[in-house]
Amino acid sequence: MKLSDLGEFGFIARVASRYQSSHPAILKGIGDDAAVLSCAPQDAFLLTTDLLLEDIHFRLHTTTPYRLGWKSLAVNASDIAAMGGVPVGFTLSLGIPAQRISVEFLDQFYEGVNGLAKVVDAHLLGGDTSESDERFIISVSVLGTVQRGKEIYRGGGKDHDDVYVTGWPGEAAMGLRILEQGRRAEGLEPIVERHELPMPRVKEGNLLAKQNIAHAMIDVSDGVLADMNHLVTASGLGGEIDLALLPLSTALRDTAGRYQEDPMALALSGGEDYELLFSAAPDKREAVERVAQECGCPMTRIGRLSSAFEGIMLRHQQGRVQKIDPAGFDHFKRVKG
Ligand code: ADP
Ligand code: MG
Repeated sequence: MKLSDLGEFGFIARVASRYQSSHPAILKGIGDDAAVLSCAPQDAFLLTTDLLLEDIHFRLHTTTPYRLGWKSLAVNASDIAAMGGVPVGFTLSLGIPAQRISVEFLDQFYEGVNGLAKVVDAHLLGGDTSESDERFIISVSVLGTVQRGKEIYRGGGKDHDDVYVTGWPGEAAMGLRILEQGRRAEGLEPIVERHELPMPRVKEGNLLAKQNIAHAMIDVSDGVLADMNHLVTASGLGGEIDLALLPLSTALRDTAGRYQEDPMALALSGGEDYELLFSAAPDKREAVERVAQECGCPMTRIGRLSSAFEGIMLRHQQGRVQKIDPAGFDHFKRVKG
């Protein structure tokens, strides 16, 4: 069905009837000039937005509308997670090239958005709908909450903190390599899904904040090196990554081997992992492990913060320590997604 058969208002009514859900904080969702929300006095709002443009941030021929919808919300929910909060609601605005994008495509897209929305308990609050000349344009904004004083900033890192990463960095970038090569050999789907269906670490970030474990936190969208550099710079410190500690999953090692990719380079600079990178005092190691157990998500200590140096140092397995110039991650840029 063409969008013109349904009309803009018909389309909005369809979305509202399918996805409008109730939540005590949402006094009004879709249907008026603005959504209305209440916030508990002990909470603060978190607000984040992302713009996704066809052929810059995604390609329609390598993904499905469901996965595109899922990921559009996931990248924003991940930002809320990185502040230690939980999502409440989101707006979804679309620029639709109506000659190419059917109502069925949009239905699947909203199904994908809703698929993740249910997992992270985020509710559709509204959006905007417009025709676009050529490209499909997606903008998602997520509103979240965090208990006042519990929010975690990038710049909260303290001297001698341990640095941890959740999950399995590098798998998402490996998934992108597979998609780019157009080969979907058997057994690769879990790695491809890490790129197309990322799972934002909402519970993990929230527990690390609530339990006063993390000092500084950021989500890994540009790769572990680049995002750790953001964290150390904001914290006014330097950082060291011990390459022997970097968690490289068996799936990543196996697949990278088949594709002549370097798993460590993918883990350091691949990007789009949507894992969390955080720092915590050395006396919190057991507390971190308890949260990891509770979430069923590994939290691996990969290095530390230090006032003794600037930028990021890489400790190689043979003991050699290499200074990485933040402006010149050239060796790794090659593999950036
Ligand atoms: P306005 O002219 O006030 O911007 P709209 O006609 O654009 O109103 O939107 C009407 C209602 O539908 C609003 O509540 C808006 O948030 C919601 N809405 C519009 N487009 C979308 C969309 N793509 N997804 C979800 N809600 C939408
Ligand atoms: Mg509008």
